[in-house]
Amino acid sequence: MAKKDDSLAAVRQEIERLRKELTEHAWRYYVLNQPIISDEEYDQMFRRLVELEERYPQLITPDSPTQRVGFPPAEEFARVRHITPMLSLDNAFNEEELRAFDKRVKKFLGLKETEAVAYTCELKIDGLAVNLTYRDGILATGATRGDGVDGEDVTNNLRTIKTIPLRLLVEKPPSVLEVRGEVYMTKEDLAVLNKEQQKKGERVFANTRNAAAGSVRQLDPAITAQRRLDIFCYGIGVCEGVTFATQWEVLEWLKKAGFKVNPHNKLCEDISEVVDYCHHWVQQIHAMPYSADGVVVKVNRLDWQERLGATAHAPRWAIAYKFPAEQKTTKVKNIVVQVGRTGKLTPVAELEPVQVEGVTIVSATLHNEDQIKRLDVRIGDTVIVQRAGGVIPEVVAVVPERRTGQEIPFTMPKVCPVCETPVVRPPGEVDYYCPNAQCPSRVENWIKHWCSRGALNIEALGEERVRQLVEENLVSDPADLYFLQPNRLRSLPGWADKLTKKVLSEIEASKRAPLSRFIFALGIRHVGERVAEILAQHFKSLDRLAKASPQEISQIPTIGPKIAESVVRFFQSPTAKSLLEKLKKAGVRPRAVEVEEEAVPDSPLRGKVVVFTGELTSWTRGQAEALVRKLGGRAASGVSRQTDFVVVGQNPGSKAQKARDLGVTMLTEEEFKALVQPYLDQVS
Ligand code: NAD
Repeated sequence: MAKKDDSLAAVRQEIERLRKELTEHAWRYYVLNQPIISDEEYDQMFRRLVELEERYPQLITPDSPTQRVGFPPAEEFARVRHITPMLSLDNAFNEEELRAFDKRVKKFLGLKETEAVAYTCELKIDGLAVNLTYRDGILATGATRGDGVDGEDVTNNLRTIKTIPLRLLVEKPPSVLEVRGEVYMTKEDLAVLNKEQQKKGERVFANTRNAAAGSVRQLDPAITAQRRLDIFCYGIGVCEGVTFATQWEVLEWLKKAGFKVNPHNKLCEDISEVVDYCHHWVQQIHAMPYSADGVVVKVNRLDWQERLGATAHAPRWAIAYKFPAEQKTTKVKNIVVQVGRTGKLTPVAELEPVQVEGVTIVSATLHNEDQIKRLDVRIGDTVIVQRAGGVIPEVVAVVPERRTGQEIPFTMPKVCPVCETPVVRPPGEVDYYCPNAQCPSRVENWIKHWCSRGALNIEALGEERVRQLVEENLVSDPADLYFLQPNRLRSLPGWADKLTKKVLSEIEASKRAPLSRFIFALGIRHVGERVAEILAQHFKSLDRLAKASPQEISQIPTIGPKIAESVVRFFQSPTAKSLLEKLKKAGVRPRAVEVEEEAVPDSPLRGKVVVFTGELTSWTRGQAEALVRKLGGRAASGVSRQTDFVVVGQNPGSKAQKARDLGVTMLTEEEFKALVQPYLDQVS
């Protein structure tokens, strides 16, 4: 008996680890548009979780990634509720799984195995799913999928895409119509965009999906308008006034109504035709101008779709056949070591150029010494590379048969390849570091980070110009930027008067940037944009953060001891001390957010974490969340043990159940109103 409990405890632990990791990766993928693992790795972890939950259904929770779709809308955007939810899709990775899907469909519908079910096959374009709502034929709203129930309002951004009709081309349009489509960018346009981004010293996008998502999820529609985006539409949600019998009819009608529909869609008579279609496209897809990561197979008859219905996560009448990642072989010309802003040494394989998924790859990260040992990769080796779901090119394996005996094993350098300081490997870590804070490579990368968009957004200082400043010894940390002399800048090659003025005025403007951006700009290990925001909200000044103890920091919900320790270590370093001193001298005064909170010292929400679920009558979700913040609390999107109150509106979602399960205090809208009412005039 004890043994059984032990194994259940182990399963529970594995499930929890998988959920935590999947949630983190989903956040990076959907919110930041910056995944760090390949889709294949993600799918593998997801499958493992599904498998465990199928075996132990008692361990399923409503917030498990298998029970939900995408990610809740980011706070910067207004929320839009989809009239019909936008679900995810289950995956099939091979012919066997496609045939198993066909069998499941027939069994569910009570058909004989020999009967044929017709399916539509549609290329699964790799972009961003959007929902376009038309009222009486006019585009009313455009939203991202978000968590499938609520999306982000990106209407004005979507209006800039010329292939989205603002008015339907049909005589009698449905009174309400939801059209689902995938906004995408072609590979060629991505290359052009990345070149421009690089020139400006801004973030480059790893793949067309990130570029499309990053371009649509912009607060400024003017930026979206500059990006070359297109759309393929593939389905409808609610549709009042027009009826269809099949998915194929829907696709045909969409074309007539003015939408762009993928010309390679096919109506297949049975599953064997579907299999052929998938096999055909595995070979052909890389030659297409846009990326697609698979084929969406849908039961053609809509009455059957209705009978099949959906699980919490995905419809039972569709499946996504996923293409395997394309792999190619090439040669390792050299292995070089790059030094990042934290001093981390990253070995990178320089490759003979090779085309993978339509993109030329010339280098691939080898991550660290352990990875090199694991792969046993040597200079001169022939290796297999893939683009890992389009994320970062990686070396998958060495082809030992191609060895000639001339290959040179690689050893990590004992000294920094840039400044020659002996490198260190902290105990328990896989990475080596250059400990010299003055290392030109560290300084250069730090300043590039300082100027980047998520940090202080000093756009005029692109990568090349930062390099120039470091080479000329004009800057040895970001604070030196604030002491640059116009005459000295003007004397640099290529620095005209206009550029100097622009750079200096942007640097000046950055002195009053929000605190969260400063904290992010400091480049502290483990402190990304989101953590920086949380720290800014909590400490409200750089000085206070600099003096905080690890205990104080790790008490903040969602901040763990690893981050806390890293923050404290940073502020204790001589580099940080001199930086803060210099920044002060330069007159840099980060803008603390939420000055309002000071005005309500006795607020009942001070320091509390509040989650809303369901619709409110007195406020929009955004207004209610802003109110919580003004009253010194934090509005979170998911319920956890850290949550203090869950406010339950009408038609609440699974968060209410979760709150009940965890024993979190639940408030009705009326109760919440009563709680905040006495303070409203202080914050309005
Ligand atoms: P999905 O794969 O479940 O498919 C649903 C989506 O397919 C739709 O929302 C739509 O965007 C798209 N689509 C394109 N053409 C379509 C068509 N003709 N008909 C219907 N839908 C079409 O998408 P998901 O739920 O966004 O994501 C799950 C996948 O995303 C995972 O399988 C994984 O590969 C990837 N992912 C990766 C990471 C990572 O860290 N690498 C993290 C999260 C998710």
